Amino acid sequence: MKKNKQKNYDSEIRSVSFDEPENQEYSDDTDFENRIVAPEYNPEDAETDNPLRPRTLESYIGQDTVKQNLSVYISAALARHESLDHCLLYGPPGLGKTTLAGIIAHEMGVGLRITSGPAIERPSDLAAILSSLNPGDVLFIDEIHRLTRTVEEILYPAMEDFAIDIMMGKGQGAMSYHLPLPKFTLVGATTRAGQLSAPLRDRFGVVLRLELYTTEQLADIVERSAGILGISIDREGALELASRSRGTPRIANRLLRRVRDFAQVVGNGVITCDIARMALDRQEIDELGLDKIDRLLLSGIIRFYGGGPVGLETIAAAIGEEAVTIEDVYEPYLMQIGFLARTPRGRCVTRAAYLHLGMTPPEAPSVPEQQSLFDQ
Ligand code: ADP
Repeated sequence: MKKNKQKNYDSEIRSVSFDEPENQEYSDDTDFENRIVAPEYNPEDAETDNPLRPRTLESYIGQDTVKQNLSVYISAALARHESLDHCLLYGPPGLGKTTLAGIIAHEMGVGLRITSGPAIERPSDLAAILSSLNPGDVLFIDEIHRLTRTVEEILYPAMEDFAIDIMMGKGQGAMSYHLPLPKFTLVGATTRAGQLSAPLRDRFGVVLRLELYTTEQLADIVERSAGILGISIDREGALELASRSRGTPRIANRLLRRVRDFAQVVGNGVITCDIARMALDRQEIDELGLDKIDRLLLSGIIRFYGGGPVGLETIAAAIGEEAVTIEDVYEPYLMQIGFLARTPRGRCVTRAAYLHLGMTPPEAPSVPEQQSLFDQ
């Protein structure tokens, strides 16, 4: 079983190798970690991640409700000369949570500190970060659901009263110190709002949910990124890339880089619909953005469990991934496009998925027609 995925700045990306036949079983070398269409951060993204990040709310494409709400909260806080309320951003990886934290800091005219739940191991680590903030700063904690309970307990008074109590020394000589902090805004990001403890969740004044992007919005993002990187692309090319990007800007930007090389070598440097289609077909990313692993997941449920219902833990054991990773990384998109349904008895593959895979759905009424993520 693989360890839970997190933003990993050390591992190198390789493209998934697609030479195995479609109906192969899961093997140890099935490359879950290095998928081109994985929504998580990968070192390959470093080249473009920062230059491509929008800096203002206006240049942040899509997520209209989130933007409208944030813009009201920011204007109100600025007018009152106060710091913004603590914000919790939740949604699948790669949708722009870190980017939004940067935008909040930029729009508020304050500094930004970035860290993550797993990086803050001890209460003293958090105390050191908090005490080094400047007044008004934004502290961004990615994967905030992974903070330990002892660290969380330091965070409560820091969020509420802008002060922390720390113990110095051990045993009888231990002393408690009350340390006032500058006012700051905590922006927490999580892929799993349900895993956050209730006391922590309750301390966020603003809770915003990011949605997967539409193809049109992703095409706008691709065109914007192409402009910044000096890549030529036409609207049809952008739409083709967007439709295979699984609703996720990080994947759209990654596909843009992949197809750029292809356009230079095979075409005349411009990414057209044909070039995009040819390049992504060669990498076995299909017209819906599914790759070999998605197809293995779906066909595995069909072949081994009659299309479901099958429990999440059983699927996880069968493919050697953690249940949380399947839930956070693979399922949201498969559910959004109506290929996988979550029923009280387990996961079921839908008729649409059978047809997409070129398989014949069983007659039984147990095969759901289609179910969207928002019906859950
Ligand atoms: P998350 O923190 O949710 O994993 P990021 O904020 O790191 O996602 O975003 C991943 C990449 O996608 C960024 O480099 C950014 O360029 C791009 N991106 C995300 N959201 C948007 C958006 N709304 N408009 C334009 N680009 C975006």
